[in-house]
Amino acid sequence: MDSCLHQSSAEKDWLPSSNGLLGKHPFCQNCGVVKVVSSDRGKDVGYFINSLSELRKFLERKGYKISKAQIRLIIKEFEEGDLNDTYSTPFSQQKEVFIDLVKRYINVSRDLVRSFV
Ligand SMILES: [Zn+2]
Repeated sequence: MDSCLHQSSAEKDWLPSSNGLLGKHPFCQNCGVVKVVSSDRGKDVGYFINSLSELRKFLERKGYKISKAQIRLIIKEFEEGDLNDTYSTPFSQQKEVFIDLVKRYINVSRDLVRSFV
């Protein structure tokens, strides 16, 4: 994973953004990723840590125990992907991958996870 700090170019270019729409977008002049400019801007990892802890509380009230290790692994995988890059990753995309990750470690339905994100 690159650790580019992203510096937007002065000019915008006609580029497809990550939601596939072609438009005039600023992009990073160092690594070239397209900046998310819609309201679908990505959220940082803290947002997903909160979602996870709310989900955990909910499941614990139902008698389903989630270990700290499970939480840690989900967050670790999330951070290792490029998802943490809020410059170029829209929230809708982060959300889908997050739901997949949670499902891999915790036996719950997608809909339940989605209601906490
Ligand atoms: Zn960059």
